[in-house]
Amino acid sequence: MANPKWKTPRSKTRSRRAANWKLATVTAVECSQCHQARRPHFVCQNCGFYDGRQVVQPKDEHAGHNHQ
Ligand SMILES: [Zn+2]
Repeated sequence: MANPKWKTPRSKTRSRRAANWKLATVTAVECSQCHQARRPHFVCQNCGFYDGRQVVQPKDEHAGHNHQ
């Protein structure tokens, strides 16, 4: 009864929805602080800012030495 009239052509096989769900592109917005690409609703990986304030310490090359 509810069968497709034709089998999926080879040209459409690679673009089926289930075959591509892992390859979804990551959405990125520009950070308002450092203007690097960051994901929306995520803390910026570059400067650690979110919602106009610093919520995590940004990654420092000299982390561990604690020279302040
Ligand atoms: Zn940033």
